[in-house]
Amino acid sequence: CDARSVFGIQFSNCQMEEAVTWVLSASNLPVCRSAYFINANSINLAADDDALFSVLRRSNRNFIDGSGMRLAVKKVGVQLADNCNGTDMLPILCEQMEKSGQSLFLLGAKPGVANKAAKLLIQSYPKLKVAGAHHGYFSDDDAVIKQINESQADIVLVALGSPRQELWIDQNKHKINANCALAVGGLFDFFSG
Ligand code: UDP
Repeated sequence: CDARSVFGIQFSNCQMEEAVTWVLSASNLPVCRSAYFINANSINLAADDDALFSVLRRSNRNFIDGSGMRLAVKKVGVQLADNCNGTDMLPILCEQMEKSGQSLFLLGAKPGVANKAAKLLIQSYPKLKVAGAHHGYFSDDDAVIKQINESQADIVLVALGSPRQELWIDQNKHKINANCALAVGGLFDFFSG
């Protein structure tokens, strides 16, 4: 992938397959890696929120969610390689994880939604290992992180909405033993809807 920047935020201009390969690749970092999908909403929020702006700037990877962003990056001379959003990544990620045997943890959305999404994912991807799921209305971060770590999940999908999900990953990634945490917004609602 090509490293570029838009509105002061670095991103990887990737094909979806390359993005998934990175997510699933072995990491030599001592912390769980972060990956965010940058869309017009994130850019707007980050413009008024210094904490979010800093978190997006220090993410391990930012992918460009094409809707609304294709033109913005074109203005800085970048032709988007793909529309790299969480919704389109999910099926490719699950197919690859069926093959690799890596496991997934779903964190976020209203009680019951992550569990329902997990069940639907297993129906579509029978060999997918879902390590666990937890809703997104919690206050005890450490208890949730303990559950993630005990599940031995490799990949964590964090659906807490922006900016909470990006800030949560940034704040907690040094305690999470998974390989990568992705911020996926309303994905579980969408998927189980
Ligand atoms: N959410 C959550 N915990 C919170 C706030 C929100 O789990 O404290 C969930 C909410 O239930 C929904 C998702 O985060 O499933 C956010 O969806 P939305 O479409 O608002 O987020 P966006 O994609 O716009 O960031």
